[in-house]
Amino acid sequence: MSIIFYSEKCTLCGQCVDACPFGVLRLEGDSLVIDEGCTLCGACVEVCEFQALELPEMEGPAPRPGVPPDGVWVFAEQRQGKLSSVALELLGEARRLAETLQVGVAAVLLGDKVEHLCPTLLAAGADKVYLAESPVLAEFCEGPYSAALAEIAERHQPEIILAGATYAGRAFIPQVAAALKTGLTADCTAFAIDQENRLLLQTRPAFGGNIMATIVTPRTFPQMATARPGVFKKLGESASADGQVVRVELASIKTPGQSRFVRTVEEIKERLPLAEAEVIVAGGRGLKEAKHFRMLEELADLLGGAVGATRAAVDAGWIPYAHQIGQTGKTVSPKLYIAAGISGASQHVVGMQSSDFIVAINKDPAAPIFNIANIGLVGDLFEIIPALIQEIKKDRG
Ligand SMILES: Cc1cc2nc3c(=O)[nH]c(=O)nc-3n(C[C@H](O)[C@H](O)[C@H](O)COP(=O)(O)OP(=O)(O)OC[C@H]3O[C@@H](n4cnc5c(N)ncnc54)[C@H](O)[C@@H]3O)c2cc1C
Repeated sequence: MSIIFYSEKCTLCGQCVDACPFGVLRLEGDSLVIDEGCTLCGACVEVCEFQALELPEMEGPAPRPGVPPDGVWVFAEQRQGKLSSVALELLGEARRLAETLQVGVAAVLLGDKVEHLCPTLLAAGADKVYLAESPVLAEFCEGPYSAALAEIAERHQPEIILAGATYAGRAFIPQVAAALKTGLTADCTAFAIDQENRLLLQTRPAFGGNIMATIVTPRTFPQMATARPGVFKKLGESASADGQVVRVELASIKTPGQSRFVRTVEEIKERLPLAEAEVIVAGGRGLKEAKHFRMLEELADLLGGAVGATRAAVDAGWIPYAHQIGQTGKTVSPKLYIAAGISGASQHVVGMQSSDFIVAINKDPAAPIFNIANIGLVGDLFEIIPALIQEIKKDRG
């Protein structure tokens, strides 16, 4: 399938050639040549003032008649009977989206002996919980998890499915999307609803974090997306825990899949998980040496917080990757974020810009981090951090 070209309308202006992001269009003599590699993105069609180009009729599943009945779903990820924070964050976001669409919110809980988690999911924003329990689902394993979620979705027809972009989410949600023959946007940082067309607008950083791309799935259901942990806000305390628990018996997980659970290996974690910390003291290349992170640890301990880092500091081997914040690290939104010796590159900022209050310490007054800081301290971190530590200690006697 390729772009339809009407040579009689073409003026050889070359705008389509310039607009093609994949460089597969070229003018040859008095004709336009479309080389291999065209993704039918439509950029050339949009730019052509003379209607000389047209997208072909797309193949694929026909649009479903009407909107699926079952509202917005959230995959309620749990491990060893403990819900992941991102599941609760996404239920808060799902509630907001569902109010615009005027539909309900459901959580899908897979596991073994996990029923005790249902009240928490209902209080976090779900109107109902689809609960599938089986020893096969006791530990996360892509095969049974994707088969189970796909089967429940086939049966109940959700309009939207959201899941955390965690290790598990990244591993099995694409398989669910493939099984349901629908699209998937990975790693979203914002959602909204196009009310006119009832479409989920799925926004995520693209091209190294330099642009934010908004993606839609206009022709297939469900509309599926994974979302970064730590970006969305949970509902407040006032949410009610009323709702329904729907037990689901599954046929799909009875046959063994291609993968099986062997054992869990505990990762060496940061002292206080970044995602849970209300205060983060983060350091960058300005710290100069690994040993200076000790100073940040001391400040973080005094403030009851955790230590974060830029990729530059992680790549230098000063601190483990578990502490990295940003596009290829963690996304955090603490109440207080202290950035010391961090320039404020977009790839770092995308992971911490939703912090409630940002204090930046940098000796360069033109450092971009000051553009997003609530308080900017222009100066030497090796003077400011010890002074802060001393003041806090003095204040506490
Ligand atoms: C695809 C891709 C993904 C990436 N993902 C990430 C990511 O997830 N997270 C991330 O952080 N980066 C990421 N990066 C790297 C990012 O582009 C930056 O290179 C990195 O964030 C810079 O780290 P930094 O601020 O520590 O270092 P620098 O940019 O070198 O900044 C150091 C700062 O310290 C200041 N400074 C120096 N000495 C002192 C002092 N004594 N007192 C006070 N201030 C001082 C300097 O003025 C400077 O502003 C990614 C890059 C790419 C291409």
